[in-house]
Amino acid sequence: MSIQFLNTEIDYLKGVGPTRAELLKKELGIFTFEDLLNYYPFRYIDKSKVYEIGSINSDALNIQLKGKLTNIQTLGERKGKRLVATLADNSGSIELVWFRGIKWIAPTLKPNTEYIVFGKPTRFNNRYNITHPDIEPVNQSLVANQINLEAVYFTSEKLSAKGLNAKGIFKIQKNLVAQIRNHIPETLPNYIIDKLNLLVKEEAVINAHMPKDDALLQKALFRLKFEELFYLQLRLLRQKVVKTQTIKGQVFESVGEKFNTFYNNYLPFELTNAQKRVIKEIRIDFFSGNHMNRLLQGDVGSGKTVVALLTMLIAIDNGFQACMMAPTEILATQHYEGLKELLVDMNVELELLTGSVKAAKRREIHEKLENGTLNILVGTHALIEDKVQFQNLGYVVVDEQHRFGVAQRSRLWKKGKQGIPHVLVMTATPIPRTLAMTLYGDLDVSVIDELPPGRKAISTSHRFDSSRLRLFGFIEEEIKKGRQVYLVYPLIKESEKLDYKDLMDGFESIERRFPKPQYQISMVHGQMKAADKEFEMQRFVKGETQIMVATTVIEVGVNVPNASVMVIESAERFGLSQLHQLRGRVGRGAEQSYCILMTGNKLSADGKLRMETMVKTNDGFEIAEVDLRLRGPGDIQGTQQSGLLDLNIADLAKDQQILTMARNEAVEVLKEDANLELEKNNRLLIQLKKMIKTKRNWSRIS
Ligand code: ADP
Ligand code: MG
Repeated sequence: MSIQFLNTEIDYLKGVGPTRAELLKKELGIFTFEDLLNYYPFRYIDKSKVYEIGSINSDALNIQLKGKLTNIQTLGERKGKRLVATLADNSGSIELVWFRGIKWIAPTLKPNTEYIVFGKPTRFNNRYNITHPDIEPVNQSLVANQINLEAVYFTSEKLSAKGLNAKGIFKIQKNLVAQIRNHIPETLPNYIIDKLNLLVKEEAVINAHMPKDDALLQKALFRLKFEELFYLQLRLLRQKVVKTQTIKGQVFESVGEKFNTFYNNYLPFELTNAQKRVIKEIRIDFFSGNHMNRLLQGDVGSGKTVVALLTMLIAIDNGFQACMMAPTEILATQHYEGLKELLVDMNVELELLTGSVKAAKRREIHEKLENGTLNILVGTHALIEDKVQFQNLGYVVVDEQHRFGVAQRSRLWKKGKQGIPHVLVMTATPIPRTLAMTLYGDLDVSVIDELPPGRKAISTSHRFDSSRLRLFGFIEEEIKKGRQVYLVYPLIKESEKLDYKDLMDGFESIERRFPKPQYQISMVHGQMKAADKEFEMQRFVKGETQIMVATTVIEVGVNVPNASVMVIESAERFGLSQLHQLRGRVGRGAEQSYCILMTGNKLSADGKLRMETMVKTNDGFEIAEVDLRLRGPGDIQGTQQSGLLDLNIADLAKDQQILTMARNEAVEVLKEDANLELEKNNRLLIQLKKMIKTKRNWSRIS
């Protein structure tokens, strides 16, 4: 019976009718009673306060009034046609005006009856009026029912034109909620409800739409968000269980000679505890026979590369080949050079494959890959071309994950002949662990949360364009000390031409202030040929130039330890994670480093918060949290296609605490009852089955 009620077509709801029903289906995807109940408000207005009409002043925002209506009349013709009424209380009177929906509203207005009115007053001809106020007879209003919070719903223009504006949707919700008692089946097991002291489903649904008070509203939202996130986690975790049961990983049986030789004789520093912990986590996966699919998060400079190297040596020790893929040629080359240097006294065959490797060399690499003499291949996207065939690829490291799509990763997996190679995805864009595990469904997550010792924290400051002279003075001093300087300009697609001009202007003014031959300046931007970029980059790396003027092409990975100053121009135009990435280009040597954020004087609230956050902290996780709050998870690179973001009521960015709770609870449930066979978990099984049938496409999870 309950199910039947929820499945009732929306046409049958009081206040809907065929025209509105058609629109609700088309515009909002609301077909049934259940769909409408699942259409939650996006905010609530506090209506606990009623103003005196006489006390209205010009800067009032939306306010609530109570009074009697007089002078209700329709004036004007055609476009000038309007409905006008006067609302009066003991302190004064105000005019109410409607230009649209007159047909709907006029018949509902009765003279000498008390109404509650809500809207924003504006001054016109020396009097106040409110256009298109919300209006309700006092006896029907929330105030009369002592409900202080009114739900506000998103709607569309077409719906509004048919009387289903935010208020109209609220009204039909009210009609529905009035009849749902005993029709909403519980969807969580009782033992979880009791344990976490949750509202029962029915109570939660009622209070989300028509909260009795704020406390109940909060409990209702908590219950509904928890449920949504809990089922999300339950699904993800079950998928993972199934995966581990069906996909077998290569077994690396032991840490061997190459790993030990390198670790004991050639590792140039002591590993940090975080690095050791992560290597151990990876080793456990390697030995387990399970397939590893792991995300390694670590701030810029935290030393992810050496973790990659040491674990690649384990693969080699077990007779497998390894490869490491980077998003740009510059970065791939740097990895290659870095690894070559570290491995100089080791008997490990290493090659670099990028788009610009010549045909002869390419053939040689292909051959060495296929006959198994090549141990490690470093490269760019060139690695995933079909021509590249390994003899026995066992381990794939992907650097700066967010630049690669899921599809590209899976092409790499297919290159393992004996089975799927283990995968380590490294990213310097940290996000909270629970969120990462959710967004990247099947990935386990490791974190390096500690920088190598002896690093001086980068000193970050925010300066306005007006203090440019002082900035130049500072740059000069640093160069005198033998340091190098980055100057970065934004390059954003939509305004590419303008940005390009900014870059050129900037370059010229720098060149005037720092003339040749005393100073040498490099410039790198996206419109240059790859070879020219590379040449300029190399001049800077070798220390032949002191200043690097660039667009964000230098964002990822580039390592010049002698560079101690990062100036970011128009910093307000960068997102937080990008600013943090850029800052990570300095502070790689022993010297004190500086990051200077240059902005115009006018900053948006968001922009200001971004600058303040950068100045306040060097911690990538903290920055990621703020970033997430500002932008929401939909804007985090690489997550758009994950399909997890069309959540109905929860918000992965804002509800992280609930997310963590939900995950822990799901873990507990599956630990006890992996296949949900226990009687007490019956509701979980039913609900999961129902979810599989519904339209949401879960398979998009990577
Ligand atoms: P990222 O995590 O940003 O890729 P890298 O792997 O490039 O960081 O490491 C940054 C620098 O720190 C490199 O020069 C590397 O040699 C050095 N490094 C890494 N681990 C340690 C350590 N445990 N102690 C000292 N220096 C380290
Ligand atoms: Mg790196």
